[in-house]
Amino acid sequence: MRKLTILGATGSIGASTFKVIEQNPEQFSVVALAAGSNVEKMRQLCQKWQPKYAVMACDDAALQLKHQLSELKVNTEVLAGVDAMCQVSAMDEVDTVMAAIVGAAGLLPTMAAVKVGKRVLLANKEALVMSGQLFIDAVKHSGAELMPVDSEHNAIFQCLPSQIQTNLGRCDLGQEGIQHILLTGSGGPFRYCDIDTLSSVTPEQAIAHPNWSMGPKISVDSATMMNKGLEYIEAKWLFNTSREQLKVVIHPQSVIHSMVQYQDGSVLAQMGEPDMATPIALTLSYPNRVSAGVAPLDFTQVGELTFLAPDFNRYPCLKLAIDACYEGQHATTALNAANEVAVAAFLDRALSFTDIAVVNEAVLSKVCAGSTRAHCSDLESILELDRMARVLATEIVSERKL
Ligand code: NAD
Ligand code: MG
Repeated sequence: MRKLTILGATGSIGASTFKVIEQNPEQFSVVALAAGSNVEKMRQLCQKWQPKYAVMACDDAALQLKHQLSELKVNTEVLAGVDAMCQVSAMDEVDTVMAAIVGAAGLLPTMAAVKVGKRVLLANKEALVMSGQLFIDAVKHSGAELMPVDSEHNAIFQCLPSQIQTNLGRCDLGQEGIQHILLTGSGGPFRYCDIDTLSSVTPEQAIAHPNWSMGPKISVDSATMMNKGLEYIEAKWLFNTSREQLKVVIHPQSVIHSMVQYQDGSVLAQMGEPDMATPIALTLSYPNRVSAGVAPLDFTQVGELTFLAPDFNRYPCLKLAIDACYEGQHATTALNAANEVAVAAFLDRALSFTDIAVVNEAVLSKVCAGSTRAHCSDLESILELDRMARVLATEIVSERKL
């Protein structure tokens, strides 16, 4: 039986993880849950799953949860703070950690699991974007089993030979006859609208993704295609790609979740309903397959599958992320931090949709200017750069405030 810690248990990926566990109760057990501030949701999860530990981000939320659980006579031990999250990620009682905290907040707990060699189910792409080589080096050093949850990376993983699947981050694609990784993306809710109307879109319009149901931050990232940019950087690290080997293709229907193109002309694609339970099930059960509770894809209902090249005028954030990927770690760490600040401001109605890219670009160009170029040789310097980029982004947001 796999014994799990679920980081980000109250979120969208958390919900899809529980859906898979519910389908296979004899194969998986829930030892620890962690989340930010949603006490109500965490209380429900503790009542249902009776984990040994529950961790909330701050003391206040933990205290409230503790009171509620003791009244309900639920025996879960309640803890608070990032150190406790690192503890429940690294403890001997678990072998598998679902890393599904959103944003930079997930870096330390995810790394804690990596460093002690757990099977790490990586949804928190921001952690890998922020720390890149350090993350991959830690995987190599500890022997952690890295499993991509992100649907595109999970699709690519499924289309790759097993010697690459078990050697992520250090594999040689050329040696296995692979020419290109084709990272697909739907283009989000604004793929067909007039570019001039983008400056006035609302948070409600931006988070209404046409194909997937996800948390608010990744939904906005999908609308700007920063999500595809972060995924580009994620793919570079996971599959050790060169610039020539990694391509982005817009595929509005989200039926194909990504593809691998081989030297002999073959293209392997993974398809399915747009439901995160499918990739999560594979990461939990690999190398076997279990039921995910997802309906089989009905090809008679799928209709046309179409593909097009991304338009960087419509999606400036995608271009910024690709450029940052080749600029270096300082650039991707800073871009990720700036984007978190800009997206939060947009969701708060303090910044326009198109200004997300403006803030990101301004922070990126400042951080990439020679004199401020930072070193990212350890977690402390990465977190310091993350803090600095947030300060810069917050200043720029307040200058452009709506
Ligand atoms: P969400 O907003 O629905 O959930 C986020 C979770 O993180 C919640 O449980 C929240 O409590 C927790 N959290 C937030 N701040 C925290 C903090 N400081 N400390 C501890 N926990 C904190 O987001 P989501 O859609 O589930 O996405 C989670 C991650 O998975 C993101 O990195 C996202 O990019 C990635 N991802 C999501 C999807 C999807 O379909 N939802 C697909 C691919 C990748
Ligand atoms: Mg994805």
